[in-house]
Amino acid sequence: MMQPTTSNPSDFIRDIIDEDLRTNKHGGRVATRFPPEPNGYIHIGHAKSVCLNFGIASQYQGTCNLRMDDTDPMGESMEFVESIIHDVHWLGFHWQDRLFYASDYFEQLYSFAVELIKSGSAYVCSLSPDEIREHRGTFTEPGKESPYRNRSVEENLDLFSRMRAGEFADGAHVLRAKIDMASSNIVMRDPIIYRIKREPHYRTGSNWVIYPMYDFAHCLSDALEGITYSICTLEFENNRPLYDWFVERLIEGSRPRQIEFARLNLSYTVLSKRRLIELVTQKHVQGWDDPRMPTVAGMRRRGYTPEAIRTFCADIGVAKNDNLIDISLLEHCVREDLNAHAPRALCVLRPLRVVIDNYPEDQVEEIECANHPQNPGMGTRMLPFSRELYIERDDFMEDPPKKYHRLGPGREVRLRNAYIIKYESMVKDEKTGEVSELHCTYDPETRNAPPADGHKVQGVIHWVSARHAVPAQVRLYDRLFSIEDPGNEEDFMKFLNPGSLEILTTCYAESSLKNAEAGNKYQFERLGYFCVDPEASAGKPVFNRIVPLRDSWTKTAGVKKD
Ligand code: ATP
Ligand code: MG
Repeated sequence: MMQPTTSNPSDFIRDIIDEDLRTNKHGGRVATRFPPEPNGYIHIGHAKSVCLNFGIASQYQGTCNLRMDDTDPMGESMEFVESIIHDVHWLGFHWQDRLFYASDYFEQLYSFAVELIKSGSAYVCSLSPDEIREHRGTFTEPGKESPYRNRSVEENLDLFSRMRAGEFADGAHVLRAKIDMASSNIVMRDPIIYRIKREPHYRTGSNWVIYPMYDFAHCLSDALEGITYSICTLEFENNRPLYDWFVERLIEGSRPRQIEFARLNLSYTVLSKRRLIELVTQKHVQGWDDPRMPTVAGMRRRGYTPEAIRTFCADIGVAKNDNLIDISLLEHCVREDLNAHAPRALCVLRPLRVVIDNYPEDQVEEIECANHPQNPGMGTRMLPFSRELYIERDDFMEDPPKKYHRLGPGREVRLRNAYIIKYESMVKDEKTGEVSELHCTYDPETRNAPPADGHKVQGVIHWVSARHAVPAQVRLYDRLFSIEDPGNEEDFMKFLNPGSLEILTTCYAESSLKNAEAGNKYQFERLGYFCVDPEASAGKPVFNRIVPLRDSWTKTAGVKKD
């Protein structure tokens, strides 16, 4: 299997596997699965589960299936299936021919249910949904048995087949497991196995009007696929006895074992699919792949790399207790990866025109620059220099403080990869009073060299040649929520960060970026890491800010302050 692996990690799940291998529990087999429900795009929490399941399979020379857990027709669709397939591949994982659909097991699952009825372990209950709820009891009170609990096997078989045949209205009957209404675990109080639901399924159409419940379908799907470790999140801990109950009654031989781990919670974001769906449908974001979304599609469009996401998932490891992971850890992994691999480029976000008065009008110099300061293998590019440039508005102050090492009246600065320039004068807009142009002179001896008299010029700023630069749009993304744990708030929409997207429409990128392709990533020097968006805006390329250079989220362009 071509699988990305970090050095072999160890955790409580791998300890269980090691022990099973030692005792030859599954004949040396390790089989896992990633079982998303195709009712939304997968997010960074799912990515953690993907890395864990595929990572374990790879580490133990086992297998990992991709299974669409599509037994509830509500909200499931082919669009979501395709996005999941694309995203898991993109994360770097492969399942060969082991792509499965729980909906392919509908017939088999129905037979399992019949088998339970025949052995007296399931019955058709005709209480209303409300009555079933009332009968269930509470944490402190036992439940009450359904009056239909002791129906004969024949009657149950008859009613169940008529449920399937569509003879009854939705909600008229359900099939329940006959377990124990007095169990201290509410999950075990005669849980529902099948319900009637006239909802077309995106794969089986209207073939079925009854659908199996998750607790029944999931464990048996695992067993049908020969899964050895069914790894899921902690909220299923109470369901484990039920998982085992079904599997013990219906499956011979090697049985899957459910193991729970703590789900990933990430600060400043929400990871519940229901909430992500709300963000999309209420148009708080532009879609599932909005670069502010914690979805794999959103992170890809933002410019996160699969390598960075995998490193993050490996670094946070697997825990048994719920916790909240700081999103800056993810951003750190992204930054580290991009620092090593993203070519450097110059781009001006908020342009201020600079005219170099003593530079010949028609002259253009091509300056050769390294694409990466530490990696000569990444080659060089030519940067045109001419009389008129753009610099960052922030890199000039009319009345700068002493410690400001950039341009101001009477001051000098080095242009990155080029000359030292000196301030001469400024032009102001008559109406607004805003500085609209600077006039400077350059010292021709200083192209990548110190001044002849050896005096020090501390500041280095970025720039582009006005005539050659590529007009661009830049989108500065900030966190989607303004509080650390929006997932904890019922009314989480109240905490959306109003400044999560700032669009700058008059930016200029260096000319080498003219043909930059969607998905290309760059370090814009002094600004951060940026990725070319798949869609241009009004003919201009769009650059999404992936992360700023440093771990501090400024409300301005993120220009380095000195
Ligand atoms: P949500 O709880 O966000 O609505 P879900 O659990 O219903 O998602 P599924 O498509 O059923 O979404 O999940 C597929 C797999 O991904 C499951 O095994 C689930 O445990 C795992 N998973 C989902 N969210 C997380 C998370 N935040 N951290 C780790 N694993 C997760
Ligand atoms: Mg689920």
